[in-house]
Amino acid sequence: MTHTLAWATATDVGRVREQNEDSLVAADGLFAVADGMGGRRAGEVASALAVQVLAERAGEQRTAAQLVAAVAAANQAVVEAGAASGERQGMATTLTGLALVSAEQWVVFNIGDSRVYRWAEQRFEQLTIDHSAVQEMVSAGFLDSAAARTHPRRNVVTRALGSLPAPETDVWPLAVRRGDRFLACSDGLTNELTDTEIAAVLRADAAPQAAADALVARALAAGGSDNVTVIVVDVRD
Ligand code: MG
Repeated sequence: MTHTLAWATATDVGRVREQNEDSLVAADGLFAVADGMGGRRAGEVASALAVQVLAERAGEQRTAAQLVAAVAAANQAVVEAGAASGERQGMATTLTGLALVSAEQWVVFNIGDSRVYRWAEQRFEQLTIDHSAVQEMVSAGFLDSAAARTHPRRNVVTRALGSLPAPETDVWPLAVRRGDRFLACSDGLTNELTDTEIAAVLRADAAPQAAADALVARALAAGGSDNVTVIVVDVRD
């Protein structure tokens, strides 16, 4: 059975930062968000390079192994670009998203603390697990997820592209199902809005662009303390 995808993207610098260091790719069944880190424009270089190399290496059709290899190539590219420039030394980026590996199967992938969610059958679910200091504390039972939202270390990322040895990519295979709606986003969304607030927008706005724009608008209204980037993907007949 063949499905059609409908998707939309939205990104904004926010109300505090001077540069938008987030990047995204949405084409050929590949949807990914990268949130760059590093001073003096290095973050935006890292995130742009990561999504560019990912898209090039993943190709228009791909296996799960090719996708993981493409993420590794993106990491290597960020490492080399960082090493080649004093100003960009230590630059890094998250990389999170989902990609079709056949007509029947997605692979959700993640390095860092950007996220992929699924809205399906009236249920909103985070598919990725953050690589962050607070998530490690939550997983170990030292912190509950409500306290994690305001914890001083909530922005400390424990796995990112731009590091050696190459970071492991978490992957989750997922069946392609009609009616599913996916959200890939940077932490500029999830630090401003709760999962309940995000789910309400995804439920209310039928069109992907309306949903994506509404999510960014809500994040800005809530403070916009970081760059915010969202991709909304609908699986249709
Ligand atoms: Mg961010």
